[in-house]
Amino acid sequence: MSKILIIGAGGVGTVVAHKVAQNHAAFGEIMLASRTKSKCDAIANGIGTKYGNKTIQTAQIDADNVPELVRLFRSFQPALVINVALPYQDLTIMDACLEAGVNYLDTANYEPKDEAKFEYKWQWAYKEKFEKAGLTAILGCGFDPGVTSIFTAYAAKHHFGEMHYLDIVDCNAGDHGKAFATNFNPEINIREVTQKGKYWENGQWVQTAPHEIHQLLNYPNIGPKESYVIYHEELESLVKNFPTLKRARFWMTFGQEYLTHLRVIQNIGMARIDPVLYNGMEIVPIQFLKAVLPDPGDLGENYTGETSIGCRIKGLDKNGKALTYYIYNNCLHQDAYKETGAQGVSYTTGVPAAIGALMFMQGIWKKPGVFNVEEFDPDPFMEQLNKQGLPWHERLNGDLEV
Ligand code: NDP
Repeated sequence: MSKILIIGAGGVGTVVAHKVAQNHAAFGEIMLASRTKSKCDAIANGIGTKYGNKTIQTAQIDADNVPELVRLFRSFQPALVINVALPYQDLTIMDACLEAGVNYLDTANYEPKDEAKFEYKWQWAYKEKFEKAGLTAILGCGFDPGVTSIFTAYAAKHHFGEMHYLDIVDCNAGDHGKAFATNFNPEINIREVTQKGKYWENGQWVQTAPHEIHQLLNYPNIGPKESYVIYHEELESLVKNFPTLKRARFWMTFGQEYLTHLRVIQNIGMARIDPVLYNGMEIVPIQFLKAVLPDPGDLGENYTGETSIGCRIKGLDKNGKALTYYIYNNCLHQDAYKETGAQGVSYTTGVPAAIGALMFMQGIWKKPGVFNVEEFDPDPFMEQLNKQGLPWHERLNGDLEV
């Protein structure tokens, strides 16, 4: 049976470890490795053997260091590595996979540390190398990117002859009781939401000022929430893989309080990603900020409310008739915490990563090369979403609001 290696022991890594352990029959031995081994040990001890799994092995790893990764891969010999460390480590882990003959899966595209730029070009450039090595790389297998891309592929396969307008809508109506906290790694999160807005229209990218376009959107079981057009990485691969799309946008809800904090953080220079001199040593303000903000992995205990993420699509059905389609999942923070000790945003990211790994292990999503998730058959993945804690719902011919 094939072994699996999880890299990254944050909120998402915690959920992946639970889900992989729950599905241990498909995975065999499990190892969790990260920069801080004590965090891996705490997660492994928390899970123990409660799902009938073997104890999760742990290891210390610096995922920026290719030779170190190769040594770990050669000694543990996993079939697949699930990368839920940070996007900065994507390329080093992919390099090590090529050297040691290991397959690869992640949830966020590579980003250089010194530039907040979300682009697939760096990872797509590995396509030929993975093809030649006979290895599979599955990119962006969280919720968004991930499930939103698979929802789109499912819509294309089962409902549309031609998709024209895609609006991905991401609402977190949860309350963690803190004045300000981010739901996943603060550095990555703040870099993402403070950048300029960008969407696809008539064959080109349209840029906006940050949070320039916004409107109230209604979310199932939640109600109206102010939603903002921001750039999100899955748009890049979706417009390439579904070329009939005339427009593709991504909307995310933010509360006024959150936006005010963000504005202050930016205005006082704490969102800077370039090093500044402090007491004779170089520090990066956003990395310092991360150290003083609440750890997203610790938000779960008092988190109430739910997330609702989905795709609203307009186009022509298989018979050429106008069709509107909304597919979404709602996830309760409390339920996520009860099951895994992590909050809903970690849960909605970690569960799809584990399902993607399951798809690979079962040989369903396995072909040499580098692929975004929408390039695989969505059906077996969609079936697993319903079984693994993220059930989805569809609405046909309703008002999409956008
Ligand atoms: P965290 O910051 O909570 O966890 C990241 C983990 O990676 C930490 O355990 C950290 O170690 C470890 N790590 C960082 N650098 C290294 C390194 N050089 N070597 C080894 N380990 C390292 O982040 P999250 O769990 O919230 O997010 C994990 C990933 O999931 C991120 O890439 C994020 O962008 C992605 N994500 C994707 C989403 C999606 O829907 N697609 C949504 C949310 C997140 P240490 O504990 O020592 O700091």
